[in-house]
Amino acid sequence: MHVFHALAEHDHEQVIFCHDRQSGLKAIIAIHNSTLGPALGGCRMWPYESEEAAMQDVLRLSRGMTYKNAAMGLNLGGGKSVIIGDPQKDKSEALFRAYGKFVDSLGGRYITAVDAGVTVEDMTQVASETRWVVGLPDRSGDPSPVTAVGVLEGMKACLQTVYGDPSLKGRTVAVQGVGSVGYELSKLLHEEGAKLVVSDIFPEKAERAQREFGAQVVDPEAIYDVECDIFSPCALGGVLNDDTIGRLKCRIVAGSANNQLAAPQHAGAMADRGILYAPDFVINGGGVINVTEEFNPAGYDRARALTKVRGIHGKLLQIMAISQREGVTTAEAADMLAEQRIETIGRLSRFYLPPGR
Ligand code: NAD
Repeated sequence: MHVFHALAEHDHEQVIFCHDRQSGLKAIIAIHNSTLGPALGGCRMWPYESEEAAMQDVLRLSRGMTYKNAAMGLNLGGGKSVIIGDPQKDKSEALFRAYGKFVDSLGGRYITAVDAGVTVEDMTQVASETRWVVGLPDRSGDPSPVTAVGVLEGMKACLQTVYGDPSLKGRTVAVQGVGSVGYELSKLLHEEGAKLVVSDIFPEKAERAQREFGAQVVDPEAIYDVECDIFSPCALGGVLNDDTIGRLKCRIVAGSANNQLAAPQHAGAMADRGILYAPDFVINGGGVINVTEEFNPAGYDRARALTKVRGIHGKLLQIMAISQREGVTTAEAADMLAEQRIETIGRLSRFYLPPGR
């Protein structure tokens, strides 16, 4: 891989390779854009098949964080990190503390948090080496229930747009993946009176949703063919692609998964089929809003975080209005909103302010 070529492609600022032979740490930290503030994004641990795959993932994910943080109105840039390793076998105190030292060496240019393969307990080890970490168990903790509230609000905004009524009562929602977010979302949907169809590659997770929320369970591959009002991807990225979009029998796609579109043109393919797509980095922004509440001088407060997360409803309506006005897809409208904020707020740095004010 030509590293600088890869950085230039999407204008990344900085990539840091971190290595510690003793603990086995091999990590990459990527800072995509720090115009709006310190780059914040989670740390993913994954047994990548190659170093190139790890690099591609961290570049893609860090860029996604720039857009998400900007769209959520946060004064944060976009960054992400990956640890190359198997989360089932390769974790140790030394590994996460070594990672924490590298995060600390950046002096706050990058702020880390949990992502796939990393738990809040792992982050406690990281926190013993650096203060540039959010989402700790004794502070905002697991963001999943809060992320689910944001997704629910996003669904209501979509229902309002498509049916003129935000209510979920009697609507059918097909949830792909009932893990941390999917489970919490299913609980909320059940409370709102929605009918649930769920799938998970672990049958016991789907059966739990069946038992607790009366969900109908289907095979993972059959979830795309379910007749429903909303299809909600809450598992993996890349699930909206040439194979699946033609099969969807819904009016709305709204879920928590990151990077749902296999390629940008798939947003257009859904619009052509009359499906309203809630851009992933907007509807799943509740998690990052929640962790950043830790920066509030008054300390973290769940009720305050939830109030902000409910703002995702209005944010999606704003994006749909841009989409209508500009004749672009909702995904393009979300990009425009984020880019415009980076551009406008970034320009404020041109003001000279005397030191020691
Ligand atoms: P998770 O690992 O707890 O849950 C994912 C679930 O999907 C698991 O139960 C898994 O078994 C299932 N799954 C995997 N492949 C599947 C398939 N092919 N079909 C059906 N089910 C499948 O993860 P999570 O924290 O719930 O996150 C879910 C998604 O939401 C991820 O894309 C994540 O990046 C994104 N996200 C999560 C948060 C958060 O607060 N946790 C915030 C923003 C975005």
